[in-house]
Amino acid sequence: MLNFDQAASTPTDPDVIRTIAEVMEAHSGNPSSIHRGGEAASKLLERSREVCAVAIGGVKPGEIVFTSGATESNNLAIKGMMLGRSDGKKHIVTTAIEHASVYESCQQLEELGFEATYVMPGADGVVSAQAVLAAVREDTALVSVMHVNNETGAVQPIAEIGRQLKKLHPRVRFHVDGVQGFSQLSLDLNQAGIDLYSLSAHKIRGPRGVGILYVREGVRLLPLFSGGGQENGLRAGTENVAAIVGAAKSFRLAAEGRTERAKKMNTLRETVAAEVNRHAGLRLTEPEQSSPHIIHFTFPGLKSQVILNTLEELGVQVSAQSACSAKTEKPSRVLSAMGRGHEEAISGIRISLGDEHGQSEIRELVKVIGSAVERLAPLEGRKR
Ligand code: PMP
Repeated sequence: MLNFDQAASTPTDPDVIRTIAEVMEAHSGNPSSIHRGGEAASKLLERSREVCAVAIGGVKPGEIVFTSGATESNNLAIKGMMLGRSDGKKHIVTTAIEHASVYESCQQLEELGFEATYVMPGADGVVSAQAVLAAVREDTALVSVMHVNNETGAVQPIAEIGRQLKKLHPRVRFHVDGVQGFSQLSLDLNQAGIDLYSLSAHKIRGPRGVGILYVREGVRLLPLFSGGGQENGLRAGTENVAAIVGAAKSFRLAAEGRTERAKKMNTLRETVAAEVNRHAGLRLTEPEQSSPHIIHFTFPGLKSQVILNTLEELGVQVSAQSACSAKTEKPSRVLSAMGRGHEEAISGIRISLGDEHGQSEIRELVKVIGSAVERLAPLEGRKR
């Protein structure tokens, strides 16, 4: 079975697995304990923070908060920012295409009396910087926009939004969900005026269950968990040191290999995109800039699940919407926001590439797409 669902999760790097196992065997101390076992664990934790700080572009280690994943990082960034305010600012600007952990955090805050504006993307799945900036009001406290959309792969104009935001509204904080962009695209957090930045280790060949929230020095958040004051008071709970050490290694490797990875995947992506374009029934999603690891298309007239099952029978695993929403039968919120009708918004397929893929896997994938279309074309329009 070929795994072309790597935007959902990636196989853990064998080196990372070894590192985690070694740390687990050698260290059982709680990093908050003040005896030697605790100190050894604490040293590993702080070293991991330094590694991550370098990997995300030379920020300060004290600006890194370890979490259980990007879902938690996004919740902490958004709810922590809004619930911790004392200046009465109640408005958030975000987009209609964010991951559920951002989107639903904003919706929950709305239920609590906050206000949110969900900026719509264009037909290509990209929000315009202008539209985001135009939504900012006097009482806006936070702007939250993702770097790469997890469903379509569309790259959002983060640097432009951040630069303009800092110029026009220097007091408004800027959060970026960087999960799908990190291993593919470089981003200078300072130049892009980013105050809060979420990452997840399992999307970049690290372990599941570790995330990062970068919190710029001076940015205040209300912690969501009460407890022992770990992670600079922002995330109570004993840290999973072994997994964090492994995650730090994966962030370092992802950053170091970024340019080469993106170049290789872009070439592979072009081959797959050309195959999708060859079939009249398929509609390739073509944003101005796509992340090299994601190819998205729709097959109007068929449900995603039917296409996905056929591809799986033929030996290829892909995804419909994001993995977190994959089990719903609802039309994709992202495709609907892009103006696609119901019939199309239930027919999306995301193919996502990983480090282990080369020309031979892509040749197999192309063959499978061809066979699947042949099988499915007669059903088009009847299996709704
Ligand atoms: N944001 C984006 C863009 C994602 O793709 C994901 C993973 N589906 C998340 C956040 C959540 O990450 P995690 O699985 O680490 O909670």
